[in-house]
Amino acid sequence: MSRILVIGAGGVGSVAVHKMAMNNDIFSHITLASRTKSKCDTIAVSVKERTGVDIDTFAIDADDIDATVALIEQVKPALVCNLALPYQDLNIMEACLKTGVHYMDTANYEPRDEAKFEYHWQWAYQDKFEEAGLMALLGSGFDPGVTSVFASYLKKHYLDRIDTLDILDCNGGDHGQHFATNFNPEINIREVTAPARRWENGAWVETPALTEKQTFDFEQVGEKNMYLMYHEEIESLKTHYPEIQRIRFWMTFGDAYLTHLEVLQNVGMTRIDPVMYEGREIIPLQFLKAVLPEPASLGETTKGKTNIGDIATGLAKDGSTKTFYINNICDHEEAYAETGNQAVSYTTGVPAMIGAAMILTGTWEGNGVFNMEQFDPDPFMDMLNEHGLPWQVKELGGPLAF
Ligand code: NDP
Repeated sequence: MSRILVIGAGGVGSVAVHKMAMNNDIFSHITLASRTKSKCDTIAVSVKERTGVDIDTFAIDADDIDATVALIEQVKPALVCNLALPYQDLNIMEACLKTGVHYMDTANYEPRDEAKFEYHWQWAYQDKFEEAGLMALLGSGFDPGVTSVFASYLKKHYLDRIDTLDILDCNGGDHGQHFATNFNPEINIREVTAPARRWENGAWVETPALTEKQTFDFEQVGEKNMYLMYHEEIESLKTHYPEIQRIRFWMTFGDAYLTHLEVLQNVGMTRIDPVMYEGREIIPLQFLKAVLPEPASLGETTKGKTNIGDIATGLAKDGSTKTFYINNICDHEEAYAETGNQAVSYTTGVPAMIGAAMILTGTWEGNGVFNMEQFDPDPFMDMLNEHGLPWQVKELGGPLAF
């Protein structure tokens, strides 16, 4: 029985709060706060209708540490679940330290003026959280999040040593819009347009964004083009599993998405440096976000499935070399029917709820700053099966051909 404060009323926050309300034996009191209170109130109405649970709502600018401290003191949660944007991570961590409350998020910190997805800013809080006797759990979404738990599950039950790991993220959903992103457009476009980086033989190998393409036949989705990208769990996985010789991350994109993105890049709309417009500074990418559909609004029209998982090759328990594929397939329409949000928000919000449950029930314990792969994967994997994200493991005939 624990009180939780969720910050961020986007698609991910909405799913997480719905799922928390469905598990009110763990989340006895839920508060949702975000920059725009009306969005929290809309979610609260839906939660009440779907689950019968009342949640409290507040307006908060989480960039303001003092205001966040005051809100935490008022709400008195055991855990703050940060589902706002990566820019807020450090400020919310500071507020948690000042108030003696555990912290959790789904995306690593990045500074506004530089699209760099690195853990060092948050890992630097290790000593402070350890000394305070508090836990900070980083990246409890799907990727990062479940993809790291999948890796540790394969390591625990199937492979004594992982040699190569590929994370494959396929969204086979169609929202019917010419161009829209499935989660926060600003963060999504910063991520997709960043150079691709893979970890290979102890070093980073960098290639220009969206230049390395492969085709993969995803179960229940079909054949899709996927592109090598940098993704933050590569950094934490190579740190916690230094044995892995190569870690790559692939994401599928349709041709129409890439054509739109190329045009937007070519005309400068994805720039993150300020430009002068009618006497004031604007950031083109932030303006672009304002004219694109809100990810939370895509649920009603999105059809199709996501299929996200890990393929790992290594030394099997019987001494031979084997390749295993572990993945989840999630249906956009089913996700929408349950929570009013599409599957990308759903596949992130459910693991956020589960990560929070791991902390609040003391199933995952520790003082300091942690990534997902540092804990026993089994209880988390059980909850994925129980709460809408069932997974499967199968052995492949051999490693990927590319
Ligand atoms: P949205 O943009 O839909 O929602 C973000 C919410 O945070 C909005 O309600 C926004 O308020 C609020 N917010 C922004 N700034 C502040 C602030 N300063 N103070 C308080 N609230 C603020 O994003 P998503 O729900 O799609 O994503 C949420 C997070 O999840 C992001 O960090 C994203 O990177 C991460 N994510 C992680 C994934 C994973 O698998 N690990 C996958 C997908 C997303 P307002 O509405 O007023 O703008």
